[in-house]
Amino acid sequence: MKFGEHVPLAPLTTLGVGGKARFFIEAHSEEDVKAAIARARECGLPVLPLGGGSNLLVPDAGVDGVVVKVMMRDIACEEGGAETLLVAGAGASWETVVDTATSRGLFGIENLAGIPGTIGGAAVQNIGAYGAELAGVFAYADTVDAATGSSRRIARDEAAFGYRTSFFKNNRSHIVTRVALRLSTHASPNISYPDLLRAQEEGVSLTAPVDIAKAVRAIRARKFPKQAEEGSAGSFFKNPVISRELASALAERFPGMPQFPQPDGTVKVSLAWLLDRALSLKGFSKGNARLYEKHPLVIVARAGARAADIDALAKEVAELVRSATGIAIEREVETFGAR
Ligand SMILES: Cc1cc2nc3c(=O)[nH]c(=O)nc-3n(C[C@H](O)[C@H](O)[C@H](O)COP(=O)(O)OP(=O)(O)OC[C@H]3O[C@@H](n4cnc5c(N)ncnc54)[C@H](O)[C@@H]3O)c2cc1C
Repeated sequence: MKFGEHVPLAPLTTLGVGGKARFFIEAHSEEDVKAAIARARECGLPVLPLGGGSNLLVPDAGVDGVVVKVMMRDIACEEGGAETLLVAGAGASWETVVDTATSRGLFGIENLAGIPGTIGGAAVQNIGAYGAELAGVFAYADTVDAATGSSRRIARDEAAFGYRTSFFKNNRSHIVTRVALRLSTHASPNISYPDLLRAQEEGVSLTAPVDIAKAVRAIRARKFPKQAEEGSAGSFFKNPVISRELASALAERFPGMPQFPQPDGTVKVSLAWLLDRALSLKGFSKGNARLYEKHPLVIVARAGARAADIDALAKEVAELVRSATGIAIEREVETFGAR
């Protein structure tokens, strides 16, 4: 277990901004996680789990807590006929998990290829892309509850997954140590998403999981900034889910606005479309932060950016959307330590 004080967090996040952790612990086992919890109790500070830092904004002032970087990275596959249970330490890189599954011909997470971060963070966020969500394959997660120090297995029916949310997101004392996914050997390609259909029409083979993952990564490479060049945390905002009445009123004002009716009668609308077509905000900037030209839901941080630049831009975008549409948008990216 590695322990440090006043450790810079910016290099451990994909946005690459923000200050230091008061205490920092690398946890390589469940015992390390429990030791970190005990240390936090002694100091009277919160425990803040960190995965790949790909969905976090670290404040410039840093975080006054015990940051626990989850480093358990083992991956095992338990084969059982048509299904395989993939069990991974919560710190395993999501891309390595996808490669492990797809190289064995297992279906279920190939559409989620190319998403940065860890499998633990993926479960917290219920990651989603190209018509798939982690919830679709989740079997269980093992956690340690920082409130009690005890271990607990959270099964699928307790995981309370929703759009970029989960039991783990709403019960912050639970540190995920292990995640199990139920994957299938049966051919079940999910290629109904327009970008994938287009790739297929262009002659890209989308039969095996490994081919689908490759196609998804190629599509994503055209939409997101290159990590080595500019920091980002993927989509900074969630797509709003609004009432049918508001959606109809907006569709009249903004002809062509894409709408996705939800089973409960609400309507999900594309915030990227609104930012681009209704508000012309592609490339809109504040300080060293700006809305990415190819995908305006993404905030990119130029070299020298501070967390305050990103926060100010996000607040201004939220206000512009509110005054133009009446929609109160929510952030997908979390400010670390603000709970
Ligand atoms: C270029 C880019 C593209 C992206 N595209 C997508 C996309 O298509 N779809 C999508 O859904 N997301 C996307 N994201 C967002 C991000 O990659 C995911 O949310 C990812 O799953 C976060 O995992 P992480 O390990 O980096 O979590 P972190 O950013 O480290 O943490 C996120 C949250 O989870 C908590 N957490 C992390 N690990 C644990 C744990 N073991 N136990 C308890 N809590 C934990 C943290 O405390 C924090 O609250 C993208 C990000 C980037 C940079």
